[in-house]
Amino acid sequence: MRVDLRSDTVTRPGPAMREAMARAEVGDDVFGDDPTVNRLQASAAERLGFEGSLFFPSGTQCNLAALMSWCQRGDEYLVSQDAHTYSHEGGGAAVLGSIQPQPLELEPDGTIALSRLEAAIKPRDDHFARTRLLALENTFGGRALPLTFMREATALARRRGLATHLDGARFFNATVKLGVEPKTLATLFDSVSICLSKGLGAPAGSLLLGTRDFLKDARRWRKVLGGGMRQVGVLAAAGQYALDHHVERLAVDHQHARDLASALAGLEGVQVDEPSTNMVWLRVSSQLEGLGAALEARGVLTTGTSLLRLVLHLDVSAEQVQFVARVIREEATRLART
Ligand SMILES: *Cc1c(COP(=O)(O)O)cnc(C)c1O
Repeated sequence: MRVDLRSDTVTRPGPAMREAMARAEVGDDVFGDDPTVNRLQASAAERLGFEGSLFFPSGTQCNLAALMSWCQRGDEYLVSQDAHTYSHEGGGAAVLGSIQPQPLELEPDGTIALSRLEAAIKPRDDHFARTRLLALENTFGGRALPLTFMREATALARRRGLATHLDGARFFNATVKLGVEPKTLATLFDSVSICLSKGLGAPAGSLLLGTRDFLKDARRWRKVLGGGMRQVGVLAAAGQYALDHHVERLAVDHQHARDLASALAGLEGVQVDEPSTNMVWLRVSSQLEGLGAALEARGVLTTGTSLLRLVLHLDVSAEQVQFVARVIREEATRLART
């Protein structure tokens, strides 16, 4: 058996999704006349409570176009130290947008202290970059950050005249976990990006949500960044299928993560935190640092070495969860003896 837990991006389109892709009506989306793309953009906007949305090839490009729409050259955005837009997108905001990131240290629960946030907003002075935007992420490292933090941080940003963006690559993992309507979380922000290609199971695609005016700018940046696509309804159809069929079932992945964590409880040399959504993190003792490689040899793919990340998703069954737990126990026990 091979179980790929490196990411929820590894999900593959199933027969029904492929069928929807094959049947999709298409047009040239750069001219705005792909009906499947237009339907997806409208239905996502309606679902999340925005005026509109825009289909992108990737989440990275989606976030970058958002940052470039909010911030001009020499502006800055506030972001947490470990946020994807800051640490995992090649520094795109700075490299391609001339936007200065102001990374902020995190609290142990993944939030940012409001006092730290407020202190990072620069006064208007020629010495400083102009602070324009607060970008948050939810889920963050597989953790659903509480709605109260999202409310307070965005309210603070608004009070201080900043725009707010949510990197919601795993937005629906957060809303399913928090038990809130998508609109409740999304409308705290001026713009939101969501990935269709992670736990939702589409082969590619992200959506950026915002006002009509904001999306006019974002659409232009999408073109500049090379993200204007043509008969892309075949991908949008997969995204539509994902939104229609794969949102509520994210709770299954969350349950699988809890099942896996509890099956590993008490295992010597392996510290497992209680999972919040679809990720299980294993902090392994130095003696067990070869665990990831040992698992790979047994067909269980993970990422990391001393901190292993296991991501549950659409293509992992309950039976495979049990298999993974058994293999981890066996390999950890074997390594502990050597
Ligand atoms: C995956 C991810 C993105 C976007 O990644 P792409 O691979 O470019 O689609 C953005 N933010 C977070 C938090 C992510 O996990």
